[in-house]
Amino acid sequence: MKLLEERIRRDGVVKEGNILKVDSFLNHQMDTALFAELGKEWKRLFEDKPINKILTIEASGIGIACIAAQQFGVPVVFAKKTQTLNIDGEVYTSKIHSFTHSKDYDVIVSKKFLGKEDHVLIIDDFLANGCALEGLMNMVMDSGAVLEGIGIAVEKGFQKGGRLIRQKGVRLESLAIIESMDAKTGEIVFRS
Ligand code: 5GP
Repeated sequence: MKLLEERIRRDGVVKEGNILKVDSFLNHQMDTALFAELGKEWKRLFEDKPINKILTIEASGIGIACIAAQQFGVPVVFAKKTQTLNIDGEVYTSKIHSFTHSKDYDVIVSKKFLGKEDHVLIIDDFLANGCALEGLMNMVMDSGAVLEGIGIAVEKGFQKGGRLIRQKGVRLESLAIIESMDAKTGEIVFRS
């Protein structure tokens, strides 16, 4: 998506360790007009799917997921990060390894808000190695819901997540795919 690529080129900052900072418009300060355009694009791409719920993960997925959800006219459920192990069986749980923080954490979704009647679109801001998405996909599978697809704002195409997810046959629509980026020169190359 040209609009997002141009914005990443203009305001994204490439950091050492393969990190792209987009906190001026995507995941700290948020440009809601841009989010609306992302939402419209996902709506167009998933037009043929009977989506009735959007699933994301806290914290930075929530903003884009909510604005996308307005296009679909469906509720958003976000997976909550938790310290306490829940043993009452009222939640789906999954363990996720954080790329940016190099640690594992547990996420939960209440069984009240995800079940076999649901047709789910997962939305998140970044795709790197795919751990966050794998955790979300496991919870969708546990719930018996149908995973209709995944919408990602920025995929780092040089990391393995995108390939692994597409190999599973899941419909994955990333609106900007970065082929390579260089912290020294700041250069970012997008997949066309
Ligand atoms: P994955 O689980 O696919 O390895 O990483 C996805 C998560 O890590 C995203 O939800 C995002 O929060 C974070 N992340 C991964 N790479 C980057 C990056 O280059 N920049 C930023 N800002 N977040 C990233």
